[in-house]
Amino acid sequence: MSLVDHPRTLCQNVGIPEISDQAVQRSSNLAVHTIPASFVWKNGKIVPWQQATVHVSCHGLHYGTGVFEGIRCYNTPSGPALFRLGSHIDRWFLSAQTYGLCLPYSRQDLMRATLELVRANGFSNCYIRPIAFWGSQTLALNPKGCPIEIVILAWPWANYMGPDALVTGIDVCLSPWKRISPHAIPTKAKACGQYLNSVLAIQDASRRGFAEAILLDEAGHVTEATGENLFLVDRNRLVTNDQESAVLLGVTRDTVLQLANDLNLAVFIQKIRPEHLFHADEAFLTGTASEITPVASIDMHPIGGGRRGQVTAKLAEAYQQTVTGRNPRHLDWLTYVMPH
Ligand code: PMP
Repeated sequence: MSLVDHPRTLCQNVGIPEISDQAVQRSSNLAVHTIPASFVWKNGKIVPWQQATVHVSCHGLHYGTGVFEGIRCYNTPSGPALFRLGSHIDRWFLSAQTYGLCLPYSRQDLMRATLELVRANGFSNCYIRPIAFWGSQTLALNPKGCPIEIVILAWPWANYMGPDALVTGIDVCLSPWKRISPHAIPTKAKACGQYLNSVLAIQDASRRGFAEAILLDEAGHVTEATGENLFLVDRNRLVTNDQESAVLLGVTRDTVLQLANDLNLAVFIQKIRPEHLFHADEAFLTGTASEITPVASIDMHPIGGGRRGQVTAKLAEAYQQTVTGRNPRHLDWLTYVMPH
C-alpha cells in the first residue's frame, strides 16, 4: 500500500492520529489538535503535523521576519497538479532576497519538496503554504546568526471567501487603514510582518459586516484588498493597477491578464481613484486562495447590479478551466504531483 493511495491508514500505522473526515471538512481550521494534514515538510524532512513546531524565542515570531507563499493544487483529468508552482517559488526567492534571507535550497529542491509533501498527504485539492523565517538565536533586531527555518504546509482549503462567493460576490468596504508605503516596506515582497496592515483592515471590515476591505495609499489611490489584487471592468475593458500602486504582483493577477489576452479583452494598467470603483460596470478580486471573487458592493453601493457580471464570469470560467487542466493553451502552468 502506498502512502499516496492511503495516507490516513498509513498515518495510523506510524502512530499519527488519523485525520477525521470532519477535520478535512473543517479545513480552514489549523489549530494543532485538528490535524488538517498528516505531514509537514520541515527543513528537508517530512515530519508529522504535530511535530512541526518552533521555539517561542523564534525571531520570526517576535518581528515577523519571514517570507511566504500561497499555492493551490487542483485535481485535473491527469491527476492532481500544482498551479504555477514555478512562479510562486520564484516570488518566494524574490521575497527572501529582499530581506537578505538566504534560502538554503535550490528552486528545484523546493519544487520537489512541495510535490513530495502533497504526495505524502495524499491530497488532490489543497492549499500549500511555504514559509521561510529566522528561527531562535537572538532577539536583537538584526537576525544575523539566527538559523533559517524552511517549512511547507499543505491542507485542504476551499475558496477563501466561502463556497457561494464565487457566484454571488462579496460586500467589501474601503478601509480607513492606508496601505503600507512601498518606501517603508517593499510591497512587492510577500513578507510576514507586512500582513499586520492587512490584519487591521480585515478586522475593521469584519466588525462592520464586510467580507473584505480595499485599501487606499497615502495619495488616495486604490491599492488592493487585504490578500487580493483588484480588477475593474469598464465598458468591456479590464482595468487594474501595478507595483506603482503598492500592490503585491499576484500570480492570479498575471494569470487573469494572460487569459484576458486570450479572450481579446483590452487591458489598461493604471492608477485607480476610488470614484472609478463606484462607477465600474464590474469589479472582482484575484488571489490564489480566493481565485476570482466578484465584488457585489463597495461601501454598500452595488457594483454592476450587485451580482457577478458577464466579463467576470467569462474570466472566472476560463480560470477554473485553466487551473483544473482543461485549457489546452496553458497546460504548461501545471506541475503534476505524480510524474507522468
Ligand atoms: N495581494 C496580497 C496582499 C496578497 O496577500 C495576495 C495573496 N498572495 C495577493 C495580492 C494575490 O496574490 P496571488 O494571486 O499570487 O495569490
